[in-house]
Amino acid sequence: MLFLRYWATPDRRVLVSLNESVLEDFQSHIQNLPSDHEAGGLLLGTVHGAHMIITEVTVPTLKDKQCRYFFERMPFGHRAIAEARWRASAGIIRYLGEWHTHPQDHPTPSGLDRTEWALLAGKRADGRPMLAIIVGRQGLHVEIVSPNESGLIMEPIF
Ligand SMILES: [Zn+2]
Repeated sequence: MLFLRYWATPDRRVLVSLNESVLEDFQSHIQNLPSDHEAGGLLLGTVHGAHMIITEVTVPTLKDKQCRYFFERMPFGHRAIAEARWRASAGIIRYLGEWHTHPQDHPTPSGLDRTEWALLAGKRADGRPMLAIIVGRQGLHVEIVSPNESGLIMEPIF
């Protein structure tokens, strides 16, 4: 597997684990070729204190408009899946954040990414930070975004 499963904030207070199926979904949407489209969706999973396990992601649907540098999510399909999982699991599996791809080996967020993440973090009904993942060609960028705070970039742990 190209991508790493276990991530932590520099102070090790927040741990994030990505299920194998999640890494496989990321890998199958890598922007390898210049003509590959940018992809993305929602991160769903369980919370354990401050820690999170990402159990599933939503992937682009036919309705999503994809282009190389810009991914505009049509919210309906993704949100419907998130709500269905939430109901079926009695609230155990919930929306935890967003992911998208970049045509970079080791991706770094754009200014637009950070603006959008701050907005999404501010909108969360449960007041928890949101998780933001960018999928590059060789690695992931994993960041915890809290309302009105600068993001915490996570590091892989082994
Ligand atoms: Zn981006």
